[in-house]
Amino acid sequence: MNRIIQVSLKVEDLPRYWYNILPDLPEKLPEPLNEDGRLEKLKDIIIPECLRQEYSTERWIKIPDEVLELYMRAGRPRPLHRAVGLEKKLKTPARLYYKREDLSPTGSHKVNTALAQVYYAAEAGYSRVVTETGAGQWGTAVAYAASLMNLRSTIYWVREAYEWKPERRRFMKLYGAEVLASPSEKTEFGRSLLKQNPDHKGTLGIAISEAAEDALKNDDTIYPVGSVLNYVLLHQTVIGLETIKQLEIIDEVPDIMIACLGGGSNFGGFTLPMIGKMLRGEIEKKIRFIAAQSEAAPNLVKGVYQYDFPDTAKILPRIKGYTLTHDYVMPTIWAEGLRYHMASPIISYLKHRGIVEAVAYPADERAVFEAARMFVQAEGFLPAPESSYAVRAMIDEALKAKEKGEEKVIVANISGHGFLDLEAYSRVLNI
Ligand SMILES: *Cc1c(COP(=O)(O)O)cnc(C)c1O
Repeated sequence: MNRIIQVSLKVEDLPRYWYNILPDLPEKLPEPLNEDGRLEKLKDIIIPECLRQEYSTERWIKIPDEVLELYMRAGRPRPLHRAVGLEKKLKTPARLYYKREDLSPTGSHKVNTALAQVYYAAEAGYSRVVTETGAGQWGTAVAYAASLMNLRSTIYWVREAYEWKPERRRFMKLYGAEVLASPSEKTEFGRSLLKQNPDHKGTLGIAISEAAEDALKNDDTIYPVGSVLNYVLLHQTVIGLETIKQLEIIDEVPDIMIACLGGGSNFGGFTLPMIGKMLRGEIEKKIRFIAAQSEAAPNLVKGVYQYDFPDTAKILPRIKGYTLTHDYVMPTIWAEGLRYHMASPIISYLKHRGIVEAVAYPADERAVFEAARMFVQAEGFLPAPESSYAVRAMIDEALKAKEKGEEKVIVANISGHGFLDLEAYSRVLNI
């Protein structure tokens, strides 16, 4: 028995720098458009240090000591597991590994950037943060980070999900956050929508617009962003940097790296450090990077690579990425975190260049939740509904490897746990 089942890093091995892929890209990334002064307005919405990082061309950006300490308090570094139970169940010659972002205090990878952004907000003198949330994971991460750093927080939560998920609502409130169903009475935009329709179910775009309006109107308030933007992916690279060290320890080079993708932050955080190594010619193997999506929001699979607004109220500047367009109506799915009309500019560019590929699974979610069931029965850990898309893709690739008799090394990121999503699993799987 000498198989390595779990690769842990020492606290001293925690990465000291985030990795910025911009200087390693073959071309300059298309910039946001400055239409009607939207770019200037960003200064009143986005945390100043984050805005600087958004356009930075430094390859390595130092993680402040205070943020490193916060990462340790959140349980970093996180282990990499070998999925021996799943390998056995699938009878695949492939070696399967998974990174444990589900071990986060709030249940997802989103704490990696929430801690950094709220830290920079506090440093800049802000006493309050506001944000939007769809599935609830981002709102919980911001509420958590704000509570650790003694800032007030307000979370605008898409009404439909707000009503579904009393447990996650209580969790955010326990952290001390003000949690509002969006559209809300708190903003002008929210009030105007409620006037037209008092039962408005809300959308992520509307919640973004409400948070942006709140931040613009209150000088003590700033808006942490949960995905899509370059600096969010930058903070998340702590995932991929740890994973590279862990794979080096066990002398494995992946053939395939997989993560689910809504806006692209866990996918980017997990894959960009390895993609960077490939772009710099430090790895010979041609690694495949697969983003797992829903057919309800297949931005990379069916979207068009063009400039579009990241929010429905068109407050934020247009950015270039694969988009279904900002007014596209997406069917409801349980993996709400994957339901976004646009993919991050960095990931979109890499998809456009053929470096990243994407797959979309049916919106009834049966196939992905069956994958989650197989995973929980074989490995014991319950992935978030969003993460089960990555598990589905890992299983599919492991089965292809079996068909061809190939010893592929497949590494997937488990972006979160599903303890607060059992209703989703029970409805779809009839349990
Ligand atoms: C938010 C979320 C996602 C999707 O967002 P990305 O920015 O694409 O990573 C995926 N998994 C979990 C658990 C989430 O909370």
